[in-house]
Amino acid sequence: MSESGQKEKYKPSRFNVITPSDPDGLVIYNSLRGSVYRIRPPADEEVHSLLHNRSAVLDRPASGDGGEGLFDTLRTKGFLVPADTDEDDVAAAVSSRRKHRRDVLDLIIMPTEACNFRCDYCYEDFALGRMLTSVREGVRRLVRERHAAHPLQTLSVSWFGGEPLVAFEVIEELSEFFQSFCAENGVRYSAGITTNGYLLTEDVARRCLDLSISRYQITVDGPRSTHDASRYLIGGGRTYDEIVHNLEGMSVLEDDFQVTLRTNFTEHNRDRVPELIDELGRRFSRDPRFTTIYRPVGSWGGPQDEETGAHSGKQAELHKLDLCSHAADRGLSNGDERMLRPNGSVCYAASPWSFVIRPNGLVNKCTVALRDQRNAVGRLDEEGGLNLDEERMSLWVDTDDTSDSGCQSCFFQPSCQGAACPLVRLEEGRRPCPPHKVWIGPTIETYASMARRERERT
Ligand code: SF4
Ligand code: SF4
Repeated sequence: MSESGQKEKYKPSRFNVITPSDPDGLVIYNSLRGSVYRIRPPADEEVHSLLHNRSAVLDRPASGDGGEGLFDTLRTKGFLVPADTDEDDVAAAVSSRRKHRRDVLDLIIMPTEACNFRCDYCYEDFALGRMLTSVREGVRRLVRERHAAHPLQTLSVSWFGGEPLVAFEVIEELSEFFQSFCAENGVRYSAGITTNGYLLTEDVARRCLDLSISRYQITVDGPRSTHDASRYLIGGGRTYDEIVHNLEGMSVLEDDFQVTLRTNFTEHNRDRVPELIDELGRRFSRDPRFTTIYRPVGSWGGPQDEETGAHSGKQAELHKLDLCSHAADRGLSNGDERMLRPNGSVCYAASPWSFVIRPNGLVNKCTVALRDQRNAVGRLDEEGGLNLDEERMSLWVDTDDTSDSGCQSCFFQPSCQGAACPLVRLEEGRRPCPPHKVWIGPTIETYASMARRERERT
């Protein structure tokens, strides 16, 4: 009841998704909050009746009317919103806050494009070696200049390659600068690395942690025989045992870090992935610092695209969810749930404060289209200038939901903002709806089941 004695009016959020889940009731999701709930019988029927009609206007029950507990739960969790809320404005504010941030700088730095591996599906050409001294100086000055122009709250660095650990001394040199600069200037510093894991010995891992590198993405396309058949050293040596040995070395460390173990699966190896999951579960299930994600290999532009067994579409997505579920049964956490949160599906290329710095100083937005001229948005000079081509920048940061009526009416807009993959819009002129949105029903059903089993175990 409002102060005037009128009943407060609510309506179902337009960002709700409701999925029947026989015989377990309903699964509900709201993309502005990013959370997923399972509603069991008999409450499922009442929740369905409150949420299913998007144009309904509902009176908030007064205390003692009955039903107020459930109504208020849905209200506090964002599934019901005040009837006069303009949710499009709320979603637009989420997008605008992301795009107009000036207090964050996100650098994806390639200390080298050389790699000690030759994976079947790789799209890189390994042409550029170690980062030039002048480019390293440019990176340092870029950070100083940005902070001087507008104080940074956060500096986020992601080491990428090639294999970044091949040029570890570049990582050490720049990380030491980032650490001391951020400490002296009150800037929050965080760093991660995408590595094949082969060179990540226990000593190197300790040194990385000293350098504040706390997020690791490491690909294991197991089990051993399938991994070694697609991810081998230059010249053909096996890599699986060394990587798993290194991961075990990390697991005995006491530090706080997060390892995301990524498995790329193809039509050829996908039925063997559960064997890998069983093994990872035996080794890492009791360590919450290790999470897993699964990705179908796409046609990523490498010379062997046709033979790799790349696949996409519904079958690939359902297979991915089966693998997530199998991993949850083996006690491994899912690293993908953030994609359902606001901003969670937006590609870094779509944010104006995110840049890829290549070893020769070339500035890119996307880490895949490395040979596409539209991706060459600038050139870092020794004074720290990015020398951006604003027209090319705009292709990446303005090619989103701004003028797309389909995106503006989409239930997934707060998470994706029409910007899950700007490259898809550029190349194919279509909306880049991510697969977890296209198959949102099976996705939230799988996540809700995984969460339930996790609760039952603990
Ligand atoms: S633009 Fe697309 S291909 Fe490029 S990094 Fe983003 S999601 Fe990947
Ligand atoms: S690209 Fe697709 S999922 Fe993303 S906001 Fe637009 S319609 Fe929705």
